[in-house]
Amino acid sequence: MNWWSRFLDFISPRQCAICGRRLMPTEHSICSVCLLHLPRTNYQLTPYNSKMAQLFWHLAPIERAAAFYYHESHSETASLIYKLKYNNRPDIGEDIGRVMANEMAVAKYFDGIDALVPVPLSRKRMRQRGYNQSEQIARGISAVTLLPVITKALCRKNFTKSQTALNRQQRQENVAETFELRDGNLLRNKHVLLIDDVCTTGATLIACANAIKNIEGIRISVLTLSFTKS
Ligand SMILES: [Zn+2]
Repeated sequence: MNWWSRFLDFISPRQCAICGRRLMPTEHSICSVCLLHLPRTNYQLTPYNSKMAQLFWHLAPIERAAAFYYHESHSETASLIYKLKYNNRPDIGEDIGRVMANEMAVAKYFDGIDALVPVPLSRKRMRQRGYNQSEQIARGISAVTLLPVITKALCRKNFTKSQTALNRQQRQENVAETFELRDGNLLRNKHVLLIDDVCTTGATLIACANAIKNIEGIRISVLTLSFTKS
């Protein structure tokens, strides 16, 4: 840390994005205690048949699936995703992406992967937020694994119908209409790792995978920051 960062830290202390405690100069957006206590899924140890992988069976040709930790709404850790998405904190995504990549790499989760593909945001949402949180997570993973991040292959269209009025199957179909392949050549003959922030029903990842599955020689795996247990 240089003197300028120390000075900024002195006049405006940085706080942990989960517990709010003052961060040490060596800590990034989350303190070491909170990092240690994130409820890990350890799905990277059983990537082909975890509870998350089972969501995709018969619905999309997804090989490996893992998430870093369990998302529990109303818990302290839920504020992490909230800040990442709605509080203009893209740095959280990159920081936690790095932490997650280091742990996943121990289980050889990135072996054979050629590229990281963050789930895109629609142009409208991107304008509102200023950044794509999934791309930020992918940047952090890339810093550790040196895998390229590909953002130009896939795009997302704005929703036409409100999601809330639809049942689960309709919702899945509605999402399915929203991803469009822009440049399949970028992913040809590659094993891609789709990156997203949260996985709940798996509908978004299924829609993404189905939008790219017909590209020649493609293989698809997924990795998300958190997984919501149903
Ligand atoms: Zn903390």
